[in-house]
Amino acid sequence: MQRGGDVGVEGSARSDLTTSDTAPRGTPAVVPESLARRRTSTIYDVVILGAGCAGLTSCLALLEAGAVGPILLIDSRTHYADDRTWCFWDVEATPFTHLARSSWDEWQVRTVAGTVTAAAPATPYLCLAANDFYTFALASIAKFGNVELRLDERAGEYREAGDVEVGGPANGATGDLVEVSTDGGTVWARELIDSRGLALSGTTVAAVKETSTWVPQQFVGLHIVATRPVFDPGECRLMDFAVDQSRGLRFMYVLPSSPFEALVENVYMSEPRLGAEGYQREIEEYLLAEFGLEPNEFVVAGAERGYIPMTDHRFARRMSARVTAAGMRGGATRPSTGYTFLGIQRSSRELADRLIRECRVAVGQPAARPDTGGRADVWRRPDAAPHARRTRAHADPTCSLLDAVFLRFLADHPERAPHVFALMFGRVDTASLVRFLTERSGALDHARLIIALPKLPFLRSAATVMGRRGLRALGTWGAAHRR
Ligand SMILES: Cc1cc2nc3c(=O)[nH]c(=O)nc-3n(C[C@H](O)[C@H](O)[C@H](O)COP(=O)(O)OP(=O)(O)OC[C@H]3O[C@@H](n4cnc5c(N)ncnc54)[C@H](O)[C@@H]3O)c2cc1C
Repeated sequence: MQRGGDVGVEGSARSDLTTSDTAPRGTPAVVPESLARRRTSTIYDVVILGAGCAGLTSCLALLEAGAVGPILLIDSRTHYADDRTWCFWDVEATPFTHLARSSWDEWQVRTVAGTVTAAAPATPYLCLAANDFYTFALASIAKFGNVELRLDERAGEYREAGDVEVGGPANGATGDLVEVSTDGGTVWARELIDSRGLALSGTTVAAVKETSTWVPQQFVGLHIVATRPVFDPGECRLMDFAVDQSRGLRFMYVLPSSPFEALVENVYMSEPRLGAEGYQREIEEYLLAEFGLEPNEFVVAGAERGYIPMTDHRFARRMSARVTAAGMRGGATRPSTGYTFLGIQRSSRELADRLIRECRVAVGQPAARPDTGGRADVWRRPDAAPHARRTRAHADPTCSLLDAVFLRFLADHPERAPHVFALMFGRVDTASLVRFLTERSGALDHARLIIALPKLPFLRSAATVMGRRGLRALGTWGAAHRR
C-alpha cells in the first residue's frame, strides 16, 4: 500500500516533486511573467477562451504537436487559486501524472451494510492539486514563447467573420477568421477553442432534461488539517454512503494525504437545497462521528466546491468550421461519474492532432521545440497512444450505453444506489471496473458488470434509455426530412 504523498507509479512519469518543493495547498499558482506580457497583435492562429484545465491542456497539446503561430489564452479569472483537486485512475500517461501528491492502491465504498474494499495496485487512484497543475502547465507553455495569456478579461460573443480584412496593428491580414469580442476589445482567430466551462441557462437545462438524463453532482470539499493524527493515509474512502440520506442521495469522500491532513468532501447527487454552511456543518458532523475530531481540533486550510451535471446529453464539440468546444463545454465529462480530467487529456490531444493534420495552424520543426522536461510529450508514449484517441465523442458504444443506463438507474432509484455501488465495487473484478470507469473497457468487462448488477431495475432503465434514444433519432430524422 502506498501512503499519501509517496507517489511512484509503475509505467507513469515518476515524480521529481517532493513534499518540500510543492507549494502548500491553498497557495495560488505562479504565472510566468513572459506569458502575461501583452503583444501588439490582434490576430492569432488559435484563440482559446477559458484557460482552465481544458484550455491549458489543449494549448500545451498544440505546442507539443508543433504549433508555432501566435496563440492567445483569455480567462476572466484574475489569478490561479488552488481551487480544486483532480483525481483519476492511473491508466495511461498524461503530462501531469508526475505531479500527483497522493496515490492509493485500494479504495473503499461504505454503506450501512458494511465496507467493500477494491484494490488495483497496477492502476492506483491519483490525486493532484490544482496549484501544481496550473503552475506546471503555465511554466511549460511559457517555454515555447508564442503564447500570450490575458487574465481578468471576459470573452463574450464570437462569430465566423468570413474572409475579412483586419484593421489595427494587423492591418491588411486577410483570411477566414473568427471574430471574438471581449471586454478588452476584439481579437481574430484562425481557430477558436471555447473552453469556458459549462454555463447553461435554466431554459437549456430544462430542454436537456426533456430528452436526456440529468443528475446534478454538487459538492463542497474542505482541506482539513487536524491537531492530532486521525487519518490513515492508506485509506481512501471513495464513497461513504453510511450518512444521513434524508435530503437526497449523498456520500462523503475522504482523501487523506497524511495522518493529519485530508480532503473531506460532502457530495450530493441530488438538489439538497443546502447552503455552503449546511455542507460544512455536515462535514463537521462527519469528522466528529468518524474521526472523533471536535471543531477546535482542526483547521480548514482550503475549500473547493463544484457542480458537475451528470448527463448523457451529447454536448456539441464542433460548433462550426473553425470553432471547437473543449472540456466540460465540449462534453468531456463521463456521464455516470462526473470524472472529466482524463477525458480532457484525451480530447485535447485529439484536437491538437486534428488541427495540425488539417493544416489549420502553422507548424514548425520538432527539433525547435523547447525542452519541457520530458513531461508534456508523454502523449506520444506507446501506452498513451491507443486510448488517447478514445475520447467521449468516440466512446465504445456498449460502454456509452451502459454508462447511460447506469445514470438512468441513479436518477430513477437513488435509494438503491448505495447498494448497487457496493455490488459493483465488491463483485466486479477491480481491473475490469477501473477499465469501465476510465472508458477503456471491452466486451468481457461489460459482461462482468452486467452479471454483477440487479437485472430487473437495470432492464427498466435500459428500456427508458433506448426509448429516449429512439425518440431522439426519430426527431433528428424528421428534422432532416422536413428540410
Ligand atoms: C472542485 C472541483 C473538483 C473536481 N474534481 C475532479 C476530479 O477529481 N476528477 C475529475 O475527473 N474531474 C473533476 N472535476 C471536474 C472537471 O475535471 C473540472 O471541472 C475541470 O476543471 C473542467 O475543466 P474545464 O476546462 O472544462 O473548465 P474549467 O477548468 O472550469 O475552466 C474554465 C475556465 O473558463 C474561464 N471562463 C469562464 N467564463 C469565461 C469568459 N466569459 N471569458 C473568459 N474566461 C472564462 C474560467 O475562469 C475558467 O478558468 C472537478 C471539478 C471541480 C469544480
